Amino acid sequence: MSGKLDEMYRDIIMEHYRFPRGTKNIRNPDLVSEGQNPACGDEIEIKVKMNHDKVQNVLVHCAGCAISVASGSMLAEIVEGKSLDEIKKIAGIVRALLKGEEISEDIDLGDLEALKGVRKFPVRIKCALLSWTTLVDAIEAREHGQITKTSTTE
Ligand code: ZN
Repeated sequence: MSGKLDEMYRDIIMEHYRFPRGTKNIRNPDLVSEGQNPACGDEIEIKVKMNHDKVQNVLVHCAGCAISVASGSMLAEIVEGKSLDEIKKIAGIVRALLKGEEISEDIDLGDLEALKGVRKFPVRIKCALLSWTTLVDAIEAREHGQITKTSTTE
């Protein structure tokens, strides 16, 4: 990986950290989820408002390191207008991306590509996964009829 590419990834991550997306509060959310990454001290709260089967608005409130905040911001940016099944699929792709696995899906990842830069720092992978794990856990809890869910990254 060239130094230039590293720099580009870092710039994208820092831009999301400084100006995170999805900060507007949501009334009467359909999904509420909290997550923690004790290894780093990151904490996150996610609220989702659905419109039929698609995400209308998302609130991501993350108190943590630059990588966890940036990843949550990228999540907020990409999930709007998506169905919960599509979100689970994207979460799987993010996981594969972070673990350096082959991605067979043909999908535009946008800024999520920048998370590739985190691969080189294995202890930070949990930071990057926190928002995704938290949201997917909430989606699965909803499928089982629960409204709120608290999760911890393993
Ligand atoms: Zn972190």
